[in-house]
Amino acid sequence: MFENKERTDIAELGEFGLIRHLTDNFTLQHESSVKGIGDDAAVLDFKDKQVLISTDLLLEGIHFDLAYVPLVHLGYKAVQVNLSDIYAMNGIATQVTVSIGLSSRFPLEAVEEIYKGVRLACDKFNIDLVGGDTSSSKQGLVISVTSIGYASKDEICYRNGAREGDLICVSGDLGGAYVGLQILEREKLIFLENPNIQPDLEGKDYVIERQLKPEGRRDIVDLLSQLKIRPTSMIDVSDGLASELLHICQQSDKGCALYEEKIPIDPVTYETARELGLDPTVCALSGGEDYELLFTISQSDYDKLKHDVDVSVIGYITEKNEGCRMVSKSDVIHELKAQGWNAFHKMG
Ligand code: ADP
Ligand code: MG
Repeated sequence: MFENKERTDIAELGEFGLIRHLTDNFTLQHESSVKGIGDDAAVLDFKDKQVLISTDLLLEGIHFDLAYVPLVHLGYKAVQVNLSDIYAMNGIATQVTVSIGLSSRFPLEAVEEIYKGVRLACDKFNIDLVGGDTSSSKQGLVISVTSIGYASKDEICYRNGAREGDLICVSGDLGGAYVGLQILEREKLIFLENPNIQPDLEGKDYVIERQLKPEGRRDIVDLLSQLKIRPTSMIDVSDGLASELLHICQQSDKGCALYEEKIPIDPVTYETARELGLDPTVCALSGGEDYELLFTISQSDYDKLKHDVDVSVIGYITEKNEGCRMVSKSDVIHELKAQGWNAFHKMG
């Protein structure tokens, strides 16, 4: 579960000792962080910007399985996926609070691992840890992260701004996190049957990293700003492309035409999905946890973006009464559904 095999009982430190121990070496970088850890509330000052806030709650056994998720990755991912929501508003994330509930089976060394991951994510994306809460839990591990960020009023992107004719774009590639999860689940079952068998993860690093170590796409927010493109709508891909695109269409009161052949899928994702008997397109549509950004832009912005290899144009926005459709590789039109257009059918 974690590398450090020592076990220091948290009771030895007490709650305040634990908080101090975990947060001592986090320093504040942002001018907007007026007061961080140590008082009854953090104090932030965003001057003339609009403030963005987002929270996620992660429960052991529901959102993560410690059989194959190392604690350092859990801390890292918990922060990353939450920052992703701020980026999805076209904002800059600046602070997080991290709250944890710990059952007695977690020694100090385990919590240190979680905070190592929190620290890595904060350092990488220049985020200040400004608070949190710590409690014991009867069962299992609970971790909740709140992200805070900002954007000016005319930069913020909502889900409801897509217009007819806008191009649908997505960053990176899709389906990898889901395929990685299937590999980890498969190896867990093999391990449970025979603990002497080493996991066979050869050649699967990419999809496993996509599952265990996702990264919020702050670089895409920066890129859009450099290119002077303000997306007309944006959302992050946490539940799968189909579900996110439907959110944009529903909230914008529009339809869409999505082209299966344009959906970006990494070759490792593609091959691994096939090996597992899964349709790679369904993994991209319904798999989720890729944390890429899905956004729409005006056609007039296309030239600014067309050479960027990390952004794919996958379709366009239509009038509402045309519905939400996907054109398959064989030119068959499917209605887009939140659970994939053919809910994870096995490929013979
Ligand atoms: P309160 O009793 O007001 O909830 P706490 O004693 O829980 O205060 O917290 C003291 C300080 O430590 C606060 O600034 C709080 O935000 C911070 N803090 C508590 N737990 C954590 C944690 N797990 N991670 C980061 N900061 C924390
Ligand atoms: Mg508290």
